[in-house]
Amino acid sequence: MNLNYIGGEWVAGNHSIDNINPSDTRDVIGQFTQATPEQLDSALDCARIAQREWAQSGLERRYNALMAIGNEMMARSAELGELLSREEGKPKAEGKGEVYRAGQFFTYYAAETLRQMGDTADSVRDGIEIDVRREAVGVVAIVSPWNFPTATASWKIAPALAYGNAVIWKPANATPASAVELAKIIEKQDLPRGLFQLVMGSGSSIGQALVESPKIDAVSFTGSVPVGRSVAAAAVQNFTKIQLEMGSKNALAVMDDADLDLAVSLALGGAFGGTGQKCTASSRLVVHRSIHDQFVERLVTATDAMVVGHALEAGTQIGPVVSAEQLQSNLEYAALGQAEGAELITGGQQIELATPGYYMRPGLFINSRNDMRINREEMFAPLAAVIAVDSYDEALHVVNDTEFGLTSGIVTQNLARANHFRRNARTGCVMVNLATAGTDYHVPFGGRGNSSYGPREQGSYAAEFYTTVKTAYIACGTPS
Ligand code: NDP
Repeated sequence: MNLNYIGGEWVAGNHSIDNINPSDTRDVIGQFTQATPEQLDSALDCARIAQREWAQSGLERRYNALMAIGNEMMARSAELGELLSREEGKPKAEGKGEVYRAGQFFTYYAAETLRQMGDTADSVRDGIEIDVRREAVGVVAIVSPWNFPTATASWKIAPALAYGNAVIWKPANATPASAVELAKIIEKQDLPRGLFQLVMGSGSSIGQALVESPKIDAVSFTGSVPVGRSVAAAAVQNFTKIQLEMGSKNALAVMDDADLDLAVSLALGGAFGGTGQKCTASSRLVVHRSIHDQFVERLVTATDAMVVGHALEAGTQIGPVVSAEQLQSNLEYAALGQAEGAELITGGQQIELATPGYYMRPGLFINSRNDMRINREEMFAPLAAVIAVDSYDEALHVVNDTEFGLTSGIVTQNLARANHFRRNARTGCVMVNLATAGTDYHVPFGGRGNSSYGPREQGSYAAEFYTTVKTAYIACGTPS
């Protein structure tokens, strides 16, 4: 049985859940305990005490801990990546890459601990000096999803600790094994008892109780829009600081002057990478009509050539979707698109392989319109829809015609269009001749509209969320 890490001890809750491999549902990865409300309460109290000690300790203590965590994750990325792929379903290389990247978040924020500078100013009044510096927010609740179980958690946990906060982490119940392994690495470090705590449990019970608690000072959440809304509603009751990263409906615009081979490879990776289960996935492909048929023909060929298989098997390019519920939802979207009048030109159906798992072929719609539900709602599926347009202006309009706004991309060889798009796409991230998915770890990440709420994550911009500013006025008097 895998336990929760509360108050510096590994503790059992009152029941457990099975963690099932989506590539082979006969493979039970393990049992994972579920925290009780009393255990959550005790975690909240421990965190408060530990945070005071952490905030007062020298920066090198934080630096050393974060650097050691990052280095261990990078050194063990193959082993931990395999476990991640086994429970989440992404191909082994992607699992390894995710763990390595997660390690880089820790080493990046190790360095950031030494860069905590403030501002000074003279007062408008005589004999007074002003010092403006950032202090830790306090106790931070982190609620993370299953699609990047290690990376998303790491880009929240690392800055939270770097800036002097305590962390209570509720990972997604679909991917608890990666969470326990990360907690075991963090446990080895010289941290105050209870500074970092793992509370596994369902979102509706432990997650809800955590975000409703007046004992937390901030919540960083990544997941769906409806849950994000309920997190925000709960947090505002206590004026808890919030940062929400939610869904999106990202578009890749392919212009008539695009390098078509590049456009096809960007669309393929952006739409179907991670089995389409990425908040940055390009599920809308906005294609200039003059190259539409050539683009679609090549994309269909490339899509049909993609190998769907067991996440841990060599050669697999697309693993299973994460769960039976997600597969059901994906198949419903495949049917919905056709009912709305789009043509499912390839894929989109469940398939059976040698092992029982949640497998489906990547699917492509053509003849779709931007007002169809398949182009309005986040499907989180290996499904993409082509929307034909007659001009650059129309492409830009379609890209921006969404209630989301996380990423967008353009494939063009025209400098003026590329630059105009970079300035006028209403998304938090914009890509020129790059896929909509795939971002760095040292710069801000986040979106607009329903995609994000609150300060940006990642890079030095994360300080805005994980710290609060104190302005000190000092009158030292005149030396006698
Ligand atoms: P959820 O929003 O339900 O889950 C995200 C996290 O929030 C999980 O840890 C979950 O716990 C937790 N949670 C659920 N309910 C509550 C609550 N009431 N209070 C506090 N925490 C809660 O997303 P799902 O995993 O169910 O995925 C559903 C859809 O969300 C996807 O199909 C996709 O559209 C979107 N999504 C978007 C992501 C993104 O990166 N933008 C990531 C994941 C999902 P638990 O799962 O353990 O119950």
